[in-house]
Amino acid sequence: MRSPPQSISIVIPCFNEEAVIPILHSRLKESLEAIRIPFEVILVDDGSRDHSWEMLVQLHSEDPRFIAIKLSRNFGHQFALTCGLDHSSGEVVVIMDADLQDPPELIGDMIKKWSEGFDVVYGQRIERQGESLSKRLFAFSFYRIFQRLTGFALPRDTGDFRLLDRRALVALLALRERHRFIRGMVSWIGFPQTALQYARPQRAAGVTKYPFRKSLKLAIDALVSFSWAPLRLASLLGVVISAFAFVYIVVVVLLKIMGINFPGYTSLMASILLLGGVQLIVLGIIGEYVGRIFEQGQNRPLYLVDSIAGTPSFQGTDRSAPGARQPS
Ligand code: UDP
Ligand code: MG
Repeated sequence: MRSPPQSISIVIPCFNEEAVIPILHSRLKESLEAIRIPFEVILVDDGSRDHSWEMLVQLHSEDPRFIAIKLSRNFGHQFALTCGLDHSSGEVVVIMDADLQDPPELIGDMIKKWSEGFDVVYGQRIERQGESLSKRLFAFSFYRIFQRLTGFALPRDTGDFRLLDRRALVALLALRERHRFIRGMVSWIGFPQTALQYARPQRAAGVTKYPFRKSLKLAIDALVSFSWAPLRLASLLGVVISAFAFVYIVVVVLLKIMGINFPGYTSLMASILLLGGVQLIVLGIIGEYVGRIFEQGQNRPLYLVDSIAGTPSFQGTDRSAPGARQPS
C-alpha cells in the first residue's frame, strides 16, 4: 500500500460551460476537501463564447486553488486537456469533464485504487443515463470496431475520466502527436492500470459540446492514429478485385474460343465505374495518412495560451506559455 499522495491536480476543459461552473465549483470543493489532500483545480477555457472565462477568473480570485487558463481560441477538447495536463503539478492528476458526468465524489475511490499500486485508474461506465440512443450506439460500436481493427485492447466504455500519477503523466506528455486520442494514448503507455466502474449520470446543466461531427472526427483520429488497418484494407480490396478480374478474363477467353461473343458496353461501363470508385476510396484512405504526416511535419504547437489566472500550486515553477498574460 502506498501512503496517500502529497498533492492532487484536477484538470477540467471547459467550452461554453457557464451553466455548470457554479455547480462544478461547489461539488468539487466539497468532495476535494473531504479527501484532505492539498489540491489544485486547473480549468482550461477552450475559447468559450459565453461568460465561462469571466466566471473562471472570478472563481480564482475567490479561491486561488482554482487556476484558470484561457486558450487563444477553440482548439478542441483533447488539446484543452493537454494544456491542463502540461500545467498541472500534483503528484497525481485527475482528468474530468466540466459537466459533472464524471462525479467528483469518485476521486477518493480512485486514490484508494492508486494506493494499491496502480499508476492509472480509469473510470468505466457501467450505465449511461440520459444520453441519446444514437450517441450510445455510436460509442458502443466504436469501442468494438476499434479493438477489431487495431488489435489493441482499449478498455471498453471509458471516457477521459481517469487518475494518472506523475510517472504515467510524464510518459503521456512525451507523446506530442497532433491527432490526439488521449484515452488510447493512456492505454498505450502501459504501466499498471485498473478500472473503477461507475454509472455515468446526466449532464448537470447545459447541452453537449460534442455534436456528432466532433465525435466522428475523434473516432477517425483514433482509428487512423492507432492502426494501419485502413491501408491494409486497401491492399485487400486490390487483391480481391484483381482475383475477380482474372477469373473474368479466363471466362471471357473460354467463351470466345467456344464462339460465344460478349457484347461489351454495359459490362465495360460497370467495371470502369467500380474500379474508379475503388481507386478513389483507396486514394482517400492514403490521403488521410498523408494529411496527418503533413500536419505532424508542420510541427505547430498543440495549443496557444491567451491568459492564466494563477500559478501551479505545488512546484512553484512558472510554466506559462510564452505570450500568456494575467487577466486584467
Ligand atoms: N469541450 C472542450 N472543447 C470542445 C468541446 C468540448 O473543452 O471543443 C469540453 C466540455 O466543456 C466538457 C468536455 O469537453 O468539459 C466534454 O464535453 P461534453 O460533456 O459536451 O461531451 P459529452 O459528454 O456530451 O460527450
Ligand atoms: Mg458530457
